[in-house]
Amino acid sequence: MDFMLTTFQPLLFLWLKCYAMLVGTFLFLGWGIIYFNRILGPEKKIQSRQSSQQAITRDFWQSIKSLITVSLMLAGGLYCQQLGLTLLPIKLTVFNAIPLLLLSMVVFDTWFYWGHRLIHAKFLYKWVHKWHHQSYAPTVWSNNSDTFLDNCFLQSYFLFAPFFLPLSGYILVAHKLYDQISGMIGHSGYEYSAGQVSRFPSPLIGVTFHDLHHEKFNYNYATHFSYWDRIMNTIYPDYDEKIKSFEQSSPSKILMDS
Ligand SMILES: [Zn+2]
Ligand SMILES: [Zn+2]
Repeated sequence: MDFMLTTFQPLLFLWLKCYAMLVGTFLFLGWGIIYFNRILGPEKKIQSRQSSQQAITRDFWQSIKSLITVSLMLAGGLYCQQLGLTLLPIKLTVFNAIPLLLLSMVVFDTWFYWGHRLIHAKFLYKWVHKWHHQSYAPTVWSNNSDTFLDNCFLQSYFLFAPFFLPLSGYILVAHKLYDQISGMIGHSGYEYSAGQVSRFPSPLIGVTFHDLHHEKFNYNYATHFSYWDRIMNTIYPDYDEKIKSFEQSSPSKILMDS
C-alpha cells in the first residue's frame, strides 16, 4: 500500500493540477466568450440555428466530466517524463521555445486530422465520436463534450508525445492550454478573425472552420491549421468565401459602434 502511495502520489497531484488548470480555463474563458458574443451581436453568429438549453447543459456537464480524462492524459505524459521513461527533453531556452511549440502544434494537427478521419469511419463513429456531433450548432461548452473513447483517440497525443518528441513539460502544458483556448473559441459559434489570416493561403483557421465540421459533417477535420484538409480535399468548398463574408465589419468596429 505504501509503495503504491509513494509511486502514484506525484501522478495524482499532477492530475489534480492539470484538471484545475483546464477546468479553470474552461469556466473562465467560457463565460468570457459568452459575454463577448453578446457585445458582438448576431451579425457575427455563424449559423442562424440555436442549440437548445438542454443541449447546452448536456455539453457543459459532459465537458466537465471529459476534462477528467483529458487532464489524466496530460498528467500521464508529464509523469512518464519525470520518471525518465520518455525521450530526454531538449533544454528549454528563449530561442527554442516557439519553434518547439510550433513543432508540437504541427505534429498534433497531423495526429488530430488522421485520428479524426478514422473515428468518422462507420465502424468507429457510433461508439467513439457520435456524442460530439450531437450539436449541429456548437457553443463554447461543446469543446470538450466528448466520450472517454474519443479522448483516447484524439487527446491521447498529450500522453504519447513525450515518447516521440523531445518536448519539455512546459511546452506540453503550453500546447495543451493553447489547444483548450483555441478549441473553445473554435466552438463558440461566432466568427472573430475573418481576415486574410484565416483563409487561403494562410494555414490558420477561423471559427467558421470547425463550425462547418459540425454543420456539414464530412469536411474540415483538422484542429489548428487548414493545410491537411486542403491537401486531402476535405476542406468545405465554400470555406474561404464564407470567411470572407464576415470581413465587412471587424470586431473592433462593432465594439466601437455599440
Ligand atoms: Zn467529427
Ligand atoms: Zn467540435
